[in-house]
Amino acid sequence: MRVVVDFDKCKSNALCMGAAPEVFEVRDDNFLYVLQEAPPEDLRAKVEEAVRICPQQAITLEG
Ligand code: SF4
Repeated sequence: MRVVVDFDKCKSNALCMGAAPEVFEVRDDNFLYVLQEAPPEDLRAKVEEAVRICPQQAITLEG
């Protein structure tokens, strides 16, 4: 599983961080950081939830 974020779409509202804080982090500089671009399978449900709730449809999962 590979996480791809379209940073042109991202609005840094941190909803993804709420769903999967192991993978997504919005820092004080107001940018989103992907902590793990290839997260382990046991995080799939959380990452899929992040994809689902992102209002910008900025997150794509490959694999
Ligand atoms: S939920 Fe979407 S728009 Fe919000 S910080 Fe995450 S990737 Fe960006």
